Amino acid sequence: MNKIAVFPGSFDPITKGHESIVRRALPIFDKIIIAIGINSEKTFYFTPEQREVHMKQVFRGENKIVVDKYSGLTVEYCKKVNAKYILRGLRISADFEFERGIAHLNKAMYPEIETVFLLAEQEYSALNSTIVREILRNGGDVSLFVPEKLKL
Ligand code: ADP
Repeated sequence: MNKIAVFPGSFDPITKGHESIVRRALPIFDKIIIAIGINSEKTFYFTPEQREVHMKQVFRGENKIVVDKYSGLTVEYCKKVNAKYILRGLRISADFEFERGIAHLNKAMYPEIETVFLLAEQEYSALNSTIVREILRNGGDVSLFVPEKLKL
């Protein structure tokens, strides 16, 4: 049976932390769908279309990776694409507390779903998209923090 995982997130923009989670998850799953969340109540720095282009730049040539956009409940999207796994990354204990609640709610709504967590690599555990956006707004160099193949 095909093991399909959805990696949902804002990815505004993708960081080396996100890239590392996806690459480390590749041997575990047959297919990983990177699902860019579209949330009308949130304002983003990059449009969903830009974030999709970023993902395709970074993962070009990886035939197990699919990039998509979605809105609404993550579990509904998972059902639609026949995914039984949600992939998430954990950096600090606050991530765990937050993710635990979401994972339990998702399981209540879709009992077949399992959320699989990978620990952030130590060197990326302080890295997030907010920091990268702040550097971009101030005209700084983000190359240390974003994937090498990404062209912003
Ligand atoms: P969301 O708004 O859904 O949290 P993000 O783009 O911030 O979207 O994060 C998507 C996923 O990537 C989350 O599981 C998050 O914990 C994980 N993640 C974010 N930054 C890192 C990092 N530096 N290392 C590992 N995982 C990360």
